[in-house]
Amino acid sequence: MRENAVSSSRAIVRAAFFVLLLTPVFFFAQQPAQASHGIEVQNMDRSVRPGDEFYEFCNGAWLKRTEIPPDRAAVGVFNELIDLTTKRTAGLIEEAAKSNAPTGTEARKIADLYKSYMNEALLEEKGISALKPHLDRIAAIKDRRDLARALGESLRADVDPLNNTNYHTPNIFGLWVAPGFSDYQHYNAYLLQGGVQLPDREYYLSNSEHMRDIREKYKAHIAAMFKLAGYSDAEARAQRVLDLEHAIAEKHTPLAENEDIHKANNLWAQADFAKNAPGLDWAEYFKAAGLAKQQTFDVWQPSAFVGESELVASAPLDSWKDLLAFHLIETYAGELPKAFSDERFAFFGKTLSGVPQQRPREQRAVILVSGILGDAVGKIYAQRYFPPEAKQRAQEMVNNIIAAFRKRIDALTWMDPKTKAEAQAKLNTLYVGIGYPETWHSYEGLEIKPDDLFGNIWRDDLYEYHRQTNRLGKDVDRHEWSMSPQTVNAVNLPLQNALNFPAAILQPPFFDAQAPAAVNYGAIGSTIGHEISHTFDTEGSTFDSMGRVRNWWTEADLKHFEEATAKLAAQYDTYKPFPDLAVNGKQTLAENIADVAGLAAAYDGYRASLGTNAAPVQDGFSGDQQFFIAFGQTWSSKARPAALRRQVLTDPHAPAQYRALTVRNIDAWYSSFDVKPDEKLYLAPADRVRIW
Ligand SMILES: [Zn+2]
Repeated sequence: MRENAVSSSRAIVRAAFFVLLLTPVFFFAQQPAQASHGIEVQNMDRSVRPGDEFYEFCNGAWLKRTEIPPDRAAVGVFNELIDLTTKRTAGLIEEAAKSNAPTGTEARKIADLYKSYMNEALLEEKGISALKPHLDRIAAIKDRRDLARALGESLRADVDPLNNTNYHTPNIFGLWVAPGFSDYQHYNAYLLQGGVQLPDREYYLSNSEHMRDIREKYKAHIAAMFKLAGYSDAEARAQRVLDLEHAIAEKHTPLAENEDIHKANNLWAQADFAKNAPGLDWAEYFKAAGLAKQQTFDVWQPSAFVGESELVASAPLDSWKDLLAFHLIETYAGELPKAFSDERFAFFGKTLSGVPQQRPREQRAVILVSGILGDAVGKIYAQRYFPPEAKQRAQEMVNNIIAAFRKRIDALTWMDPKTKAEAQAKLNTLYVGIGYPETWHSYEGLEIKPDDLFGNIWRDDLYEYHRQTNRLGKDVDRHEWSMSPQTVNAVNLPLQNALNFPAAILQPPFFDAQAPAAVNYGAIGSTIGHEISHTFDTEGSTFDSMGRVRNWWTEADLKHFEEATAKLAAQYDTYKPFPDLAVNGKQTLAENIADVAGLAAAYDGYRASLGTNAAPVQDGFSGDQQFFIAFGQTWSSKARPAALRRQVLTDPHAPAQYRALTVRNIDAWYSSFDVKPDEKLYLAPADRVRIW
């Protein structure tokens, strides 16, 4: 899964409030851009003891002087890298726009998409005319069969539970096309629960004052959108939408459960749907979705499908029509006149994420183009900003860290020899993509017009949907990438047994060819280790070396693993960012395990890279100290309370300040900083969690 909760789904990429959504595995991981090569001594607070407050020790001065810009939910290294990459990408898009490239070329598509987004006067002039035919179709729904058809037509390839940790779609269900759990050599269709706009079921079901307040404001927002679109009875419609979304949310399974592959492994034949989940006219639904011929589906959350299908039959038809109309307006608000995108931002940006101000339109345009035409932009980006030397150095680090994992696995005393052999086999077949993909996605046949923003996005959604559905049943390409090169992130693709490290994450402060090895291994090395360890964690132990869903552990292995990981969950349960809200150790467990394992393996890789050489000292810090400080500094971050709260509730990653404390589980951290039992972060050797 990706290192951030940043969703790359196209629906989100084009949303007008990326700010909040750009929350990576690294969510909030950050540090100011550096001029020197090495740890950022000027960001530290050396007045605190590393054993008491390691996060502040690494980042205290930065925390003191940094303010969150008004258009951001959070700030840190991550955002700065994103800003730098956005600036570079903007330059490339500008060049494309000026080049007057021939019609049909990728450069022309980039230019025309950008122009269509920037032509605000035209958007105002068009109003909602482009949306109108689609709204009229919804208004014309007269029975449950029409409803099933409309719901089927709304299906998009907009979720990705395993690679990009994106479980959310406002459509009643979401499609993900990926190697089959049962048939690992061919692409299968996965269906996920959906139907609500708010980020998670807790937003509907929680009784806390904060959530009740959000729901009130959400209702007002729905009404405002209806009014803008010229609907009568906006308040009554808003109430109906909220009630129906609430009913849907009640049927949803919680996030922590969604992450359990065994619960998600439910192969239904198309004919099973009517029997297993009665209510929705499934034949009509699949026909409208263009999937009439698809024989099998993996249903991620069967109980939600039962509940939601039942609601399609039982909830008032008018409520469904209002919900469909509102979701359509909401989804395309960014492509409508300013009043719509402003209203959308006022709720989703300000209220939900605490971001006072929307990003400038130019920046949003760049993010949109870079998201929609990811590989077209990425091809130019990689040529310009990722030299072959960088690729080679990063590859060396990957090799050293893989070697460290090999040794660690061999040395494990608790693991059955057969299980060890399976783990080693996974390392043998692991594909590590560095910088950019081997083959690029084509955009042939995608029509982009300089004067039709809504049409561009609508057609792109369908283009992507058809690209995905067209490969159902076809052979799996295990080297396919899931991120564009200009993405500041990294990702583990469990069904392909593959990792992607895009060019944009392989730059300072995560990776700097001129920095000491200690710093590179502490920063990007621990991230590489984190991703590799996902191959073996609670999720990875479910997939074998070919990406098959097959538990390759013995009972005894699993028992040890569960004991060790329960200890880690308990460790994170003690962290409380708010008096009324603690980190959820179970929800964040897979990521926390990856942090511990990644840091441990990166440390080994670093020591191995030194050979017999002594590490250079910087500002009085030894090589080992630099390694841990570099790690701690990748987590420097400041988040607005609303955004932090949202992360704690919905993100499988713990907040950055706690991820920095992963060091508590590594013996070398204690010896590096001479951490004593009376210091706050001290854990007795028996309480340090060692998994790999
Ligand atoms: Zn991860």
